[in-house]
Amino acid sequence: AALPVGTPAPPPPAPHLFSDPTEVEALRGDLLAWYDRCKRDLPWRALAATEPDADRRAYAVWVSEIMLQQTQVATVIDYYNRWMQKWPTLQALAQASLEEVNELWAGLGYYSRGKRLQEAARKVVSELAGRMPRTAEDLQKLLPGVGRYTAGAIASISYGQATGVVDGNVIRVLCRLRCIGADSSSPAVIDRLWDMANALVDRSRPGDFNQALMELGATVCVPKAPLCGECPVKQHCRAQRRKLFGKPTPVPDVEDCGVGGCPLCPPATEPWDSSLGVTNFPRKAAKKQPRVARTATCVLERRGCHGALEYLIVQRPSSGLLAGLWEFPSLPLAQGLQEEKQREALADHLRACMGWPGVAGGLRFIGEVVHIFSHIHQTYVVYSLPLDGDVTLDTALSPSRWVTEEEFYASAVSTAMKKVLRGR
Ligand code: SF4
Repeated sequence: AALPVGTPAPPPPAPHLFSDPTEVEALRGDLLAWYDRCKRDLPWRALAATEPDADRRAYAVWVSEIMLQQTQVATVIDYYNRWMQKWPTLQALAQASLEEVNELWAGLGYYSRGKRLQEAARKVVSELAGRMPRTAEDLQKLLPGVGRYTAGAIASISYGQATGVVDGNVIRVLCRLRCIGADSSSPAVIDRLWDMANALVDRSRPGDFNQALMELGATVCVPKAPLCGECPVKQHCRAQRRKLFGKPTPVPDVEDCGVGGCPLCPPATEPWDSSLGVTNFPRKAAKKQPRVARTATCVLERRGCHGALEYLIVQRPSSGLLAGLWEFPSLPLAQGLQEEKQREALADHLRACMGWPGVAGGLRFIGEVVHIFSHIHQTYVVYSLPLDGDVTLDTALSPSRWVTEEEFYASAVSTAMKKVLRGR
C-alpha cells in the first residue's frame, strides 16, 4: 500500500543490503585489485589519469561519458580521439559550429547528444567563466543534458568525489550481488540502487571504484553468459550462491529474504527459474514495442560540371529526431498507402519543398531500407530521380545543396541515409 506523503520508505530487508562493513571493505578491495590488473586501456582513462588541469580533466571525462551513452566502447574510441584532437578544451568546443559537431558525430547515433554537449560547453564558457562545476550536485544542476549518472561519473573520476553511479552495467551487477528481482527499471528500485552505489563506493578511490563496477558489468558480469568463475567478487555474490546451493531452505536464512511482499524480491508470480541461474537478475518489465514508421525518400541525382554524379540533400529541422542533419528529400508516409499514392505524395512533396516541378512519372522505385532507431522501426521506401544538370532550386525554401558521393559521406548525414545511398 502507498505510504502517506512525507513518510520515509522503510529500509529494504537485510539480504538485499551491504550491511556488513567487513564485507564491504573486502568487496571494494577485491574489485579494485581486479581493476588494476585487468582494466582496458582506454583513451579517456589515460587523460583522466594524466591531465593536471581539473577543468580539462572534467571535460575529457564528460565527452567520453556522453559518447558512451547508448554506444559501444569499441565504436566510441575513434570518435573520441578525433573529437579531443579537434576540440581539446571546452573553449575550443564552444567556438565550433553545430554543423561541425554534427559532422563529427555522424554515425554515432542519438545526435542530440553532440548538440547538447556543445550547448553546455558554451554555457560553461559564457556563464561560468570556463570553470566546470566541482561537485556532482552542481554539475547536474548547472549543465544542460548532464543527468545524475553523468554528474556522478565526472565528479568521481575527475575530482575524486566519493559519490556512486548507476548505469545499466551497475544495475546488473548490484541486482545480482544482492538478488534484486523486482522490476529494475522502476523508480523505487532505481532509488535503492543509487543508495547502494553511494554506500558502496570506495572513499579513497571513488572514480576507479565506479569504473571498476561498470567494467565488471561490461566484461565479466555480462547480460547473457556471465563469467562467474572469473569474477573477482563472486564470494560476495548472492545470486551466485543461490545458483550453487539451489532453492532457499523452507526456513528463511540470511540468503533468503523471506519477507512477504518484499519490494526488492522477484514478484511471487515469477519465482526463481533454476535454468537461468544468476541471469534471473535483473528483471525488467516488458519493453514497449518500437513504433513502426514508413518514409518515402528520393535520391535526386545529376551530372555535375566535372561529370561526377551529384546528389541533392536537404537539412532537417533544428529540433526533433536527427535535428539539423542532412538527408535526401523525404516524406513520412501514412500507414497502408498504395504504391501509386506513395509516389504521388512524394512528387507533391518534391514540388512543394524544392519549389521545382518534378515529374511523378520520372520517379523510379529502388527498394526498401530498414533502419532501427531506439524506439522506431523505420522503413525508407527509396526512389531515385535523375535530373538534367541545370535544374535550379528555390533557395527560399528548406536549406539544400548538391554533393558528390565523397562530400555526402563527409557531411552530417545519418547512418540511415548512408544505407539508402549504398542500397541505391
Ligand atoms: Fe556477476 Fe557472476 Fe560475478 Fe555474481 S559472480 S557478480 S553474477 S559475474
